[in-house]
This record gives sequence, C-alpha cells and structure tokens, in this order.
Amino acid sequence: MFENLTVKLEEIFSSLKKAPSLNKNQVEEGLEMIRKALLEADVALPVAKKLIENIKVKAIGQEIIRSTTPGQMIVKVVFDEIVKILGDSKSELNLNAVPPVCLMLVGLQGSGKTTTAAKLAKYLEKNHKKKSLLVSLDVYRPAAQEQLNILGEKNLIQTLPIVKNQLPLDIVKRSLSAASLSGVDIIIFDTAGRTQVDLSMMNEIKEIKSLANPIETILVADSLTGQIAVNVASEFKKTVDLTGIILTRVDGDGRGGAALSMKFTTNTPIKFIGTGEKIEELDIFYPDRIANRILGMGDVVSLVEKASQDIDQEKIKKTEENLKSGSFSMEDYLNQLRQMKKMGGMDGILSMLPGVSKIKKQMDNANIDESIIKINEAIILSMTKEERLNPKIISASRKKRISNGSGADSGAINKLLKQFKMMTNMMKKMSKGDTKNGMNPEIFNQLK
Ligand code: GDP
Ligand code: MG
Repeated sequence: MFENLTVKLEEIFSSLKKAPSLNKNQVEEGLEMIRKALLEADVALPVAKKLIENIKVKAIGQEIIRSTTPGQMIVKVVFDEIVKILGDSKSELNLNAVPPVCLMLVGLQGSGKTTTAAKLAKYLEKNHKKKSLLVSLDVYRPAAQEQLNILGEKNLIQTLPIVKNQLPLDIVKRSLSAASLSGVDIIIFDTAGRTQVDLSMMNEIKEIKSLANPIETILVADSLTGQIAVNVASEFKKTVDLTGIILTRVDGDGRGGAALSMKFTTNTPIKFIGTGEKIEELDIFYPDRIANRILGMGDVVSLVEKASQDIDQEKIKKTEENLKSGSFSMEDYLNQLRQMKKMGGMDGILSMLPGVSKIKKQMDNANIDESIIKINEAIILSMTKEERLNPKIISASRKKRISNGSGADSGAINKLLKQFKMMTNMMKKMSKGDTKNGMNPEIFNQLK
C-alpha cells in the first residue's frame, strides 16, 4: 500500500534530516521534490498544489527554519497537512434511520461493489451487531445477482431470493417488505455498474434512490485507477449526491493518488478501504493512520489492533513464557508462523511497521512471500514432536524423512534450521536485556 510514494518520501526526508539547519532555498528544494513525488503517485494536481502551499506557509513561516531539528519538523508538518487533506478524522457510517436502514452502493463495473456489499454486511454484524439483507439490483450482467447471493450464503448473510426478470424498482419494493417481515436492521443494495459513467445508469440510480431513500449512498471506487476513480467520484457526486466513498484494491495500490485526492476533490469522505478479496478485508479509513503509512512511519496502532483481533493471545503468552525460560521450540515457531499468516503474512505485517518500506522492496525483489511461510509450516509439520522440541537432534537421515514428508528440499530445511537457531540466539540475547541492536537485519536475509 502506497509503497512507491513512501519510498520516495523517505528518501527526501532522510536527506533533509541530515542537515543541521535548513535555509529557505533548501526547504523550497525539498518541497519541490515532495511535489514531484506526489504527482508521480498520481495525486491530482490541485491537491498536490494545495498540499505544498500549506506546507510552505508553515515551513517558511519559520516553524521549520527556526527549529533545531528542521528535518523532523518538515516530516511533522507534511504529516499534519496530509491528514488534513485526507479528511482530519474518520467518518462513521450513518445508521441513524428507522429500520430497515438502507445503504446503497454505486460505482463502475468491476470496482468491487458486490464484494464490498458482503464485506459491509459482515462488518455491521461484527461491529454493530446488525443483521443485514443483501439485495442485488444488477439485472443486466449475467449471474450478477447469483454472485451476491452465493457470497451471502457462504458467509451466512441473508440475501433476497432472486425472482427472474424482475426490474430493479420492483426488487427494491420486494426487499423493503421482506426486510420488515424478517426483522433485518439494514438493507444493502448492490447496484449495476457500467464501464463508464453514463446517463441511463445515473437515471436508474436516481430512481432507485428516490424509492429506497437510502441514508448512505456510497461510491465504491477502484483505487488502482487513480485519477479516473477521482473523476468518477466527482461525476457521481454531482448527479446522485454521494454520502461516502469506499476505496477498493488499496492492497495493490503502490501509489495512493486516489486515496490522497478523493476527499479534497469531491468533498466526500472515504469511509472504508478494501484491502483484499476476503470478506474481512475491509478497514475503517483513518486519515492519521494512512498518513503515517504514507510517510513510512508505519501504522503501529493498526498493527497492534490487528494483532489483538487476529492473534490467539493465549498462544502468544505461552510463546513468551517459553522465550523467557529459554525453551522456545519449533512448535512455538510454528505458532508464530501461523499467527503471521493470519495477519496477512510478512507483507501485511511489514507494511505496517515503521521504516521498512525499503527492506520490503528488497524482499519483494527476492520473492519472499507467503509461500515461504507455507513451506516452513510443512517442514515443521513433518517433524516429530521430539524434533520440534529439540531441533539439534535432526540428523541427515531425519532430514531426508522430513524432506519426503514436506516436499521441501534439504536446502529449505537447512535454511529453516539456521533461521531458527539465529532466532533463538537473538531472543536469548533480547531476554537478557541486550536490545540495543534491535532486530537483527540478518534475519531478513536469512528468510530469502
Ligand atoms: P462489481 O462489478 O463492482 O460488483 O465488482 P466485484 O465485487 O465483482 O469485484 C470485482 C473483482 O475485484 C473481484 O474479483 C473481487 O474479488 C475484487 N476485489 C474487490 N475488492 C477488492 C479489494 O479490496 N482488494 C482486492 N485485491 N480485490 C478486490
Ligand atoms: Mg457486481
């Protein structure tokens, strides 16, 4: 997420931070570099301009130049201004209506509406204890209605049964009475999209809107399309008046232009971001956390929250105890790998840690991905209990057996054993209080 921009900004900041003092020219040069980086990240021109203007006012207005740590100050000012451009604070979904509360998703074809409809229902169930009814109004694309109903079934979310050849407005009417009969709290309407914004789509949306009277009309936009997503949002805002935006495919968006430009250009808040294809991969949009990520300061708060949500606390505690007592075993290591997998693998974790975008890039190049976690898991699962507790006993013949069992070659097994040894050594050191060197970067090399 936003890796390209982050790497650029980190480079600019690290050169600025080196200078003991900065004069006006140096600040201006730095700002010019930041402006370029923003434009390369596909940030809309007026947004980049406004950002730089705002930063400049503070920078030249002495806050930075007078500061004893000017490089640090610039980062702080840029951070504050990015948060402002992103929308200051998170925007909650408005559910303040007489049930069934209607939410309507609109957007271009393939932007992620159907997937997001199901994600939202899951989110509302988990976080607001609300029951939703999923209703597809996409009667044009073959199998579009089935797609939503299958998603609903798979995730135990109610869906409106499909009646062949029924028109969108009739489906809306049917869903309203079905909702009051079955006592659901919320109806989520998934509407049809086109490849381009067009008149007939807008007219249909307007009609549906006046009948369903949704409290939220949310545009689902694909962040990968950058400025196009922003232009689409402006069009929709003009004609059907949006109340919010959900940006999808943020997981694959290395640039972040759409995210950065959306609020400022359309004056409509981003409420959620889609971070993957899975049902739970929908996150609330927190401007400050996103700004943190963009600036390479990492999203430690999100990481901690994610950890407490996804991780089996008991296992972690046990691992910690084993660590302290020096009896950290392959079993513990396996648990760690599994927790990592749950949190979205190395990628998921690393993208949230401060200052790792560079390492991450190197790792991407070296093709470190979840497949390595999977191989290591297979290797450990092919070990006997004894071997897991005491890997030292793994002889050549045992290695052969493990290799047969896991399908991994001896190189992969040796690597894992070496990695494990390094890790236990490092942990022993850390538990003795020797933390001044922090995480040994060798660990990352060993993972290659
Ligand atoms: P619709 O035409 O607007 O209803 O779009 P769909 O919901 O059918 O989504 C199109 C494709 O995008 C599907 O393959 C989804 O799995 C995928 N998709 C949706 N949201 C995300 C996301 O946040 N991240 C990723 N990686 N894929 C997504
Ligand atoms: Mg769809």
